[in-house]
Amino acid sequence: MRETGTHEQKDILGRYDAVMMNAFGSPKRVFSHGEGIHLVDADGNRYVDLLAGIAVNSLGHNHPAVNAAITSQLSRLGHVSNFFATQGQVQLAERLAAAAGEGARVFFTNSGTEANEAAFKVTRLTGRTRIVAMEGSFHGRTMGALALTHTPKYRAPFEPLPGHVEFVPFGDLEALERAVDGATAAVLLEPIQGENGILPLPQGYLAAARRITRDAGALLWVDEVQTGIGRCGELLLHRADGVTADLVTVAKGLGNGFPVGACIAVGDAANLLQPGNHGSTFGGNPVAAAAANAVLDELASGVLENVRQVGHWFAAAVEELHHPLVDHVRGRGLLRGIVLTEDIGQGVVDAALDGGWVINAPRPHVLRIAPPLIITRDELRPFVDALPALLEAGRG
Ligand SMILES: *Cc1c(COP(=O)(O)O)cnc(C)c1O
Repeated sequence: MRETGTHEQKDILGRYDAVMMNAFGSPKRVFSHGEGIHLVDADGNRYVDLLAGIAVNSLGHNHPAVNAAITSQLSRLGHVSNFFATQGQVQLAERLAAAAGEGARVFFTNSGTEANEAAFKVTRLTGRTRIVAMEGSFHGRTMGALALTHTPKYRAPFEPLPGHVEFVPFGDLEALERAVDGATAAVLLEPIQGENGILPLPQGYLAAARRITRDAGALLWVDEVQTGIGRCGELLLHRADGVTADLVTVAKGLGNGFPVGACIAVGDAANLLQPGNHGSTFGGNPVAAAAANAVLDELASGVLENVRQVGHWFAAAVEELHHPLVDHVRGRGLLRGIVLTEDIGQGVVDAALDGGWVINAPRPHVLRIAPPLIITRDELRPFVDALPALLEAGRG
């Protein structure tokens, strides 16, 4: 058992509660360092990190290539305003643009919610204002991104939010077809709803949404903040369905923990933003760009294949347990939801933490497994072996 009983963590957690705004509840651990797939807490206990900072630390902790890229860039140029360009920023933009489609252009941000803010503003420049988003969606916490986020408990305290956003049932193509017309600026989708419990769109939905938006002259906007940059075994998951979107947003895994995000616009949508429409002091910062370029280099050297193979093996291995508390495993690559037959997610998360595993439960009946993309089968197998006991402990 790895408990918070010792002095070092207790002291810091007490001070945390006194000085930090209560946005996240009381944390259960204080982490001091990490190495690869492992985290170490302030009392020296080791954990296997199967959450990776919520799908962020794609290459694991203390990755030598990312560290080298960051420190070498920092020693040359740490920041310059967006009145000027840097080589790494342009290189990163070229790589992201190439991943999104022909004629794409990039606007850099520091987070996923800011990438969505940028995209939201681009949709307004079409001259239309209506957005169709999905029930169960999550797009971030700033006022604009929140207006696109469905979860009523996140929205309610902050009404009124930017308007003209309509929500349709997730995965219901007929409802989408009915909702989209000549006044629709954009349709906004997550290929897999991460915060809603790793819930994938039905097969064929993205391609149909592409057809529906094209016919209506509306933009197709895909939020790949969680699913993109290798997490699901592809640089951009929607591209694996043969779909080219007009707007794509990415962040989480892009900098391996260094804050960086991007709004990518393709084709005509790439020309909507004009000087004065939007900006960012830090967006496209040379250090962030160096981190992201290092991540993309690593992903291209075998990591994506690892994600597909290990992710597939993991889902099958958990289902083969035939445990009565596991209904099924969903998701793609190394973004996996273990769907439970009872609402015991938080109990299992707590039991896992005490057993040395970091996971979370985005919904009461779903465990999220989003480890560093470099994890091997041998490193994941002990978790699969431990899962039955963790499920039973979590049930209490
Ligand atoms: C996490 C997330 C966001 C918000 O990103 P932040 O970096 O936390 O602002 C937006 N969209 C999706 C799909 C996400 O998973």
